[in-house]
Parts: sequence; structure tokens; C-alpha cells
Amino acid sequence: MIGERLEEIYAIGRHRAAYSPEEDAAHELAAGWMREAGLDVSRDEAGNLFGRRGEARVWTGSHLDSVPTAGRFDGALGVVAAIEAARRLPHAALAVVAFRAEETGPMGSRRLTEHPEAFLEVHIEQGPVLERLGEPLGVVTAIAGQARGQRVFEGRADHAGTTPMDARADALVEAARFILHVRDCAREGTVATVGAIEVEPNATNVVPARATVAVDARSADAELLDALIADIGFDVAWRSDPVAMGDAFAAVLPDAPRLVSGAGHDAMVVPNASMLFVRSLNGGISHHPDELSSEDDMALAVDALTAALVRLTR
Ligand SMILES: [Zn+2]
Repeated sequence: MIGERLEEIYAIGRHRAAYSPEEDAAHELAAGWMREAGLDVSRDEAGNLFGRRGEARVWTGSHLDSVPTAGRFDGALGVVAAIEAARRLPHAALAVVAFRAEETGPMGSRRLTEHPEAFLEVHIEQGPVLERLGEPLGVVTAIAGQARGQRVFEGRADHAGTTPMDARADALVEAARFILHVRDCAREGTVATVGAIEVEPNATNVVPARATVAVDARSADAELLDALIADIGFDVAWRSDPVAMGDAFAAVLPDAPRLVSGAGHDAMVVPNASMLFVRSLNGGISHHPDELSSEDDMALAVDALTAALVRLTR
């Protein structure tokens, strides 16, 4: 059931970009399923889709947009699971929500003009932790804070053939040392990545004159994040604080493992959010067509979501 609906959404298009016809079509499909589940469909100014029943102070859902190389589960699972849970609770006052443009923001959830008393998001883990633990579900305790920025290395352009090795100021060699330093700065509870470099003049036979190294540093602990930034030493262009998650899923899954989310989600901008991760198979691969969760694991997630909604809406 869950898998079939995810396949229907994926059939619209692997890449459902923000506010594209493909994202529109996915919202239309979800709107039909919401009506079948007995929900009243509406949209807000940002284009977020709501399926409401009664005085809906408890919301559940996720997003339907996707990255160009997407799989079937990221975002869509949280919307489909929410509709199924709402269908199972025909008398509960709640809202299912499909946010717009999560992958490029989040844009839709940031533009909410009203906020729920509780927001529950089911999402594929997009990492290998639950698979390694042999556990189907994990309760998210926090969404990591992030810092992004760069470090620039200046050298001097020279002839690659005539300039002796001891007479060079090679910006890229300095940058290479820095990249290894970035990796070594990431300790328990933090991650740090160099995912992009720019070299000037970027020519095979010229000693590099300038290298710009992009840094992405993350931690679910604000103090650890600050220490990581200081250890690495880079110009921070943008920083977000870690966001603690609520205990709506912990209350119904007391023995499930706890983990932090290294990725951003709608739950980091919607107040009073709690988040549940579903095991990623295939080594946790995500933003890739091989992204996978099993039907059994997704069914357990719907059960947990339903139980959490019962607690919050009675
Ligand atoms: Zn997502």
C-alpha cells in the first residue's frame, strides 16, 4: 500500500523540483488520497497542501519535491504515511500536510502563517545508522546545526616547467593540507566536509595561484559546532543552530534507538516537531534511485505514527 503510492508519485517524475509541474502533480495526487481518507483539502499562500479534519492542532506530513537524482522515499514517505495514519483514525482532529520545496530551502514550511501544537514527521533516515544497528525505526533527538563557508589560499602563478619546487607558492598544495586538517577536526558528534574547491587559473601547466575551499561543518550540539568551526578555522558565511526534537515518537517507542539528523528537514522550521526515522537499506544511500526502505519497516512506522497521533489527539 505505502510502496504502491510511493511508486505512483515517483512515476510522475524522479525530479520534482520546487513549484514545478511535477511537484504540482504530486500535490494533486496526494490531495485525492487526502479526500479518500476523509480530509478537507486546502492550500496556503506558499502552496503547502493541507488535509484537515476538525480543529486540527496536530499536524503530520513531509514534502513531495525531490532532488534531480532522487529515490522514492525522501519526503514522499512522510506524506503517504501521514495519509494512511489519518485514514486509520477517522474521528481524530488532525491535519496532513505536504510542504512545498523542502529540498531548496525549506521554502514552504518557512512560510507558514499558522503553527501546530505538534508536528510529526516520518522520514527515511538517509544514512546507515539504523541498518547497522539492525533496527527498523529510530527516534530523532535533534537536527544538526550547520556552518558553511570557505577558506581562501593565495599563492603565485608560475610556469609548471621552469619554476623549481623550492621556489613556488602553490595555493593548491596549501589547500590540500587544509582539506586533511578539516577531516581530522571532526570528532565524535561532529562531521566536516570539503565538497567543493575552485582553483585559479585551473590550468595543467600553471602553478595554482589561488584555491578556494568550501567547508560544511555540522553537529547536533551547539558547543561542539562552535568548537569545530574554531578548530577548522574558516570564514563562516552561514550558520544554523541545532534544533531539538520533541518526544511524540519517544512516547510510543520507548526502546527504539535515538539518533540525530545530520540532514535538514521541514521539522527544523515547524515549531513543536517530533521526528521518526525509518531504516534506509542499501547502506543508507539517499538522493539516489537505489534509496530503499522495506514495506515491513514502513508499516511499523505507520503504526508508530498512528499511536503517536492517538495520544496527541484524544
Ligand atoms: Zn526529505
